[in-house]
Amino acid sequence: MDEATQAEAVREAVRACTERIEEERSYLTDLDSAIGDADHGANMTRGFSAAADRVEGLESDDPAELVKAVGMALLSEVGGASGPLYGGSIVAASGELEDGITAETSVAFAEAYLEKLKERGKASIGDKTMVDALVPAVHTYKKSIEVDGLAPVEALGKAVDAAERGVAFTVPIRASRGRASYLGWRSVGHQDPGATSTLLLLETLLSVASERLDGEVEVDAEAEGKPAESDTEAVEVED
Ligand code: ADP
Ligand code: MG
Repeated sequence: MDEATQAEAVREAVRACTERIEEERSYLTDLDSAIGDADHGANMTRGFSAAADRVEGLESDDPAELVKAVGMALLSEVGGASGPLYGGSIVAASGELEDGITAETSVAFAEAYLEKLKERGKASIGDKTMVDALVPAVHTYKKSIEVDGLAPVEALGKAVDAAERGVAFTVPIRASRGRASYLGWRSVGHQDPGATSTLLLLETLLSVASERLDGEVEVDAEAEGKPAESDTEAVEVED
């Protein structure tokens, strides 16, 4: 995939994430009203809508620059804990994509994102934050690519499953970081909003990646004179 195609993929991913966050705005708000201050839906919607505007307006074919612009938009538009966490970590990790988006650089991006987020938020697994979705997702993604030799889109599928289990894990535990920690034991029994938005974004990235791959596989299959369906059905896309 050349730089311009990667840049288009980034733009498409940002558009899709913005739509998904808008669709789930009240869900995120409800989760945050149970253990926070009911602004996570609004924060994420405002941040992603600004990010979508920035990447559309930016005349660049450099995927790293576009990803960095997303982070900058989240940093400047989102008040609250999630803005600096999402935004700052995306900005910091975007440098890993300077040579383009490949299986290798995507693993480096994911690891850098996680490291920065943990450094900024000082949260570890079990604190009932977005880290609980992110750690299993990033570890699973890395292992699926580096040890199991899976293709990035398949690895991302495994990472989404892992993030889903991470989100479920936030329900029965007590918050020790962020606003929810003020509730102490009363935070038990509620799902963490930031872990949930992390999962929604990963699901959306998977769906964009799967759709783009389907398109490529179809073209390749046709070129080789094989029926397209056998390949295109290989990846399931969840809505
Ligand atoms: P705020 O908590 O300032 O209102 P948001 O509601 O937008 O900001 O985001 C809340 C989410 O941010 C939480 O659900 C949690 O996942 C995440 N979060 C809060 N503090 C931290 C932290 N120190 N480390 C990691 N994630 C955190
Ligand atoms: Mg909040």
